[in-house]
Amino acid sequence: MGMCCINCFDDEVLKERIEQEGVIENCDYCKAKHIACMDASELQSTFERFLDMYIKIIRGVHFSVNEDIMDYGQSLHKLIQEDWHVFSDEIEDNNQYAELMKDIFAGYCDYPESELDIKNQFFSRYDECMGQSTVQELWFEFCDSIKTKNRFLNNYFFYGEDMEGLLSKSSRVIKKDVSKSLFRARIGGKRGKNGNFRPYPISQMGAPSSEKTGNGRANPKGIAYLYLASSIDTAIAEVRPVKSAQISISNVSLQEDISIVDFSGEILSCSPFEIDDLRHEWERINLMEKIGEHFSMPIDPVLSDIEYVPTQFISEYIKSLGYDGFIFKSSLGSGLNYVLFDQKKTKIRRSKLYSVTDIQYEFEKR
Ligand SMILES: [Zn+2]
Repeated sequence: MGMCCINCFDDEVLKERIEQEGVIENCDYCKAKHIACMDASELQSTFERFLDMYIKIIRGVHFSVNEDIMDYGQSLHKLIQEDWHVFSDEIEDNNQYAELMKDIFAGYCDYPESELDIKNQFFSRYDECMGQSTVQELWFEFCDSIKTKNRFLNNYFFYGEDMEGLLSKSSRVIKKDVSKSLFRARIGGKRGKNGNFRPYPISQMGAPSSEKTGNGRANPKGIAYLYLASSIDTAIAEVRPVKSAQISISNVSLQEDISIVDFSGEILSCSPFEIDDLRHEWERINLMEKIGEHFSMPIDPVLSDIEYVPTQFISEYIKSLGYDGFIFKSSLGSGLNYVLFDQKKTKIRRSKLYSVTDIQYEFEKR
């Protein structure tokens, strides 16, 4: 039994609750003095939701007897922290986290198998320990459906939700006033009269013409979108230059607020204690990230055009719903990629010339 305090947590919902319902005491975990505290066991019903999403893993059931449990699971508080950032950094000793979790679940007796020993047992995310990820399965089913069954009018459902509902939950508005500059890269530049290379002029830094637009992960042949990146290094990586290539880079700012769908897989800003079905929400976020991964895969000339239909369909569907575009993590750089359907909401500024001084490859023998 112990008293935990508002400093023990980063989650705003928990902090507010402790502030409102707690008493002024000394904290047993982060050791703060004279602060709003609550008996840890009073948080049990609040934390029970995590036992629906994380499963206690058992040797011989979820992994074989001669494998290392550490490869399959970790402590419950680490999983919760990785996925939801509930705890603060005030508790420096890892053991104190474990102690806090043990005390929160001290009176819990509703676990289906034997008793729960939060401090010493290992847990895994539900989809990871149940073998084949349901997210992976859903994505494959969708790709198969759109490639081989219904191409243009595909009303596919994800977790009982149609695609419009799925996308709208990850949509948000990027305000023009708070958005940082975005970047647009094009390989090459213009050779001036004196023979020097100069960056492309602004007029040539927008989306390409329809005639010059080939198949992309986001766009079908002939339909041009504006591809931007959140940083210069991501913009350069995305055009995949060779060493010593010259690259023109423009700063791009927003002229209006834009509404986008976010495939970056970032945890939503809301607290896990405000979400009704945590496992469902987790899978939805993962599915969005999975779609984002497919947008970020480089185009492979060996693959047939049909391989790009699933992402092109999703992209076109987002456009039909009235969004201005979408974002996803780059697989080549460290930042985000932006796909905007219409460049009218952006202002492309004067470009500068960069040259690639080095490229690093990572590889493995197969
Ligand atoms: Zn504390």
